[in-house]
Amino acid sequence: MRKFLALLLILCMVFVFTACGSEESSEEPGDQSQETEVTEPEDEQETEDVQEPEDEQESEDVQEPETKDNLVDPADAPEDSSAPPTGDDKSIRGIPDLIDVLTYDDGDLMVLVNKYHGTTPDYRPTDMVPVDPALATWNDLSLKEEAYDAYLEMYEDAKAEGFDLKICSAFRSYEGQKQLFTNAINSYDLAFAHMYSAYPGRSEHHTGLAIDITSASMEWGLRQDFADYPDGKWLYEHCQDYGYILRYLEGAEDITGYMYEPWHFRYVGKDVAKEIMEKGITLEEYLGEA
Ligand SMILES: [Zn+2]
Repeated sequence: MRKFLALLLILCMVFVFTACGSEESSEEPGDQSQETEVTEPEDEQETEDVQEPEDEQESEDVQEPETKDNLVDPADAPEDSSAPPTGDDKSIRGIPDLIDVLTYDDGDLMVLVNKYHGTTPDYRPTDMVPVDPALATWNDLSLKEEAYDAYLEMYEDAKAEGFDLKICSAFRSYEGQKQLFTNAINSYDLAFAHMYSAYPGRSEHHTGLAIDITSASMEWGLRQDFADYPDGKWLYEHCQDYGYILRYLEGAEDITGYMYEPWHFRYVGKDVAKEIMEKGITLEEYLGEA
């Protein structure tokens, strides 16, 4: 087990294409001038390209991964969607049965999407707003308005502390997640892929309430040592003041189903966020779904 965890850690350091991954959009941010005060790579675009998985940006338009057609889509599943997937398809091995499936956004901030609680492919969050491209590493990101407004407050306060943050992933569609997951299982060991990439329909990013945050100090990548950087520490200590929680805690992998992600934050509102962060628990535990 220790060996496996050590392997995971090493892999995490190498692969910044994470569970949260990056958006499927391929455009780079237009204006990076505000980052000049912070140490940054000489050639930002080159750095971002290096940190992305080799095939991610091209995958949408170029050749389809071989197993994509074999992915079992809940939408294509038999009428009883709670039935366990069958067969020996690589993509569904290790996927737990669903407990329930969200079909529409009823505005509940406590919505739970994880490996046991999914969404339908056509699930679409309401009240979505575009993320300012100047505040993100990708264009065309969007979030639920309440979550975005809260992020803007957090961003401004972080900026006042001297931190230069950007959102690198926000809402993700079912199809977008399907592509990321397919890339993951085609690129990495299956067990590892399941620890950092969500099966389509089971990504919290589908709710429009989750964001991945990177920073100039991380050279716009995603790594677990973000937790050791001043900006990563600040986010961990203050996210609750803005209604966010750190979603995938270190040591809670058996509960969340995902590896430690010091960059993935989930909006739940201030009161709940304070309770969760002060107790140091997961959303699953808070909701009695652990
Ligand atoms: Zn994420």
